[in-house]
This record gives sequence, structure tokens and C-alpha cells, in this order.
Amino acid sequence: MRLDKFLCKSTELTRAQSGELIESAEVSVNGEVITDPAVQVHENNSITLSGKLLTPRASRYIMMHKPLNTLSSNVDGDYPSVMNCLDIDKVCDLHIAGRLDADTTGLVLVTDDGRWSFNIINPKYHCEKVYRVSLRDPINDDVADKFALGVQLQGEISLTRPAKLEVQSPKEVLLTITEGKYHQVKRMFAAVGNRVNGLHRQQIGDITLDIEVGQWRYLTTDEINSFS
Ligand code: URA
Repeated sequence: MRLDKFLCKSTELTRAQSGELIESAEVSVNGEVITDPAVQVHENNSITLSGKLLTPRASRYIMMHKPLNTLSSNVDGDYPSVMNCLDIDKVCDLHIAGRLDADTTGLVLVTDDGRWSFNIINPKYHCEKVYRVSLRDPINDDVADKFALGVQLQGEISLTRPAKLEVQSPKEVLLTITEGKYHQVKRMFAAVGNRVNGLHRQQIGDITLDIEVGQWRYLTTDEINSFS
């Protein structure tokens, strides 16, 4: 990680304050003074600030239940950021592993461990995401087969990867997908002539949402390790 990020992770300093201290030659890495905040360091390096050895805080891994009309971003925009639900320090160091649309509710994973979130969002790893979908029209009998084979989304070169559709009632289905294209679920149903009226993510990999809307909790060790 960058040296200024390491300082943030191991002190109460902001990124800007960390940068200033690094530039004013207060920080050493393995005995050598470093003045470039962007220099890459490893958590095992011996890093001192004004001669004092720093130890980074443990990484944080969090599940949130995203409410309707919130943004999957760190800052407010047309709607408030979902991060406002987190009443903990240094929320600005955290990022969301797999965004949801403002009008989608459900499971959001939040962390400051970029390597961990990469395992979730990297399309190469085909991480399963399960969505509960409310539809405008009753689901047609042929849609499960179409999704299993892959459908053509507007503007995409390749078909969607095989997806699993489980019908709960004529207008309520569960959809499991292993990619995260822009508005993917809404576009998949549009591709078969239907429309998504409500979308809720209930599972990512082995992690299942089990908290009330607007709540959050730290992940268990097993949940964290399921993506390591
Ligand atoms: N697919 C969508 O269309 N929207 C989401 O928020 C997530 C998946």
C-alpha cells in the first residue's frame, strides 16, 4: 500500500496530514527517510513517525443492509451515502466491494482490505451473488433456460455468463449471477421483455444478509476467510 495510507491505518491522521508529515521528512521506512507519500510499502516494513514505530490497525470487514435510495459511494450525492449508516471511526478508509444501484436494497460488503475486495469484484473469480427480484410481468417459462445459456445485453460483446433462476411466485424470482456488469440484473430482465420493479441482494459468495435494513455488523472470521 502507499506510505500515506499506511500512516492513516496506523495513526489518527488523515491522508492529507499523513502526506504533509511524510513530505517534511518525519517518516522512515526500514531506516531510510522517505519523503514521497506515494511510495509503496508493506505492512511488515519497519515504519517510524518521528522515531516512533508504527503498527497498522487490523483490517475491517463489514456487512451492511443497504436501505432504499442510498448511494454505494463514500460521499453523498443525489441520495445520502450508505456509509452514513456506519457509526465508526475512519469510515473514509473503507470502500464497498460491489456496488448496488440507489434503488437496490440488501447486502453490501465494506472493507479497507483491497486485496480481499478484489477477490469479490474481480470478474475472473466468478463470485456468486443472489438477488431477489420483483417483476412487472409474470415470468415466462423459457426465461430460466435463456439465463442458463446466457443472454445478449445491449452494448455488450459477449453473452452473460450462465445464471440460475428460481421462481418463487409468478412475479418474484431469485437470480444467481457470477458477474457484475453495470445494471446487470435489470438489463437481463429487459433482454427478455420484462422489467425489474424491486431488487434486493441477499447473498454474496457464502455470506448471507442476516441483519435489519440500515444495520451493520463485523463479519466473522469464517466469513472473511471465505474470500481469502
Ligand atoms: N444489477 C442491477 O441491475 N442493479 C444492482 O444494483 C445490482 C445488480
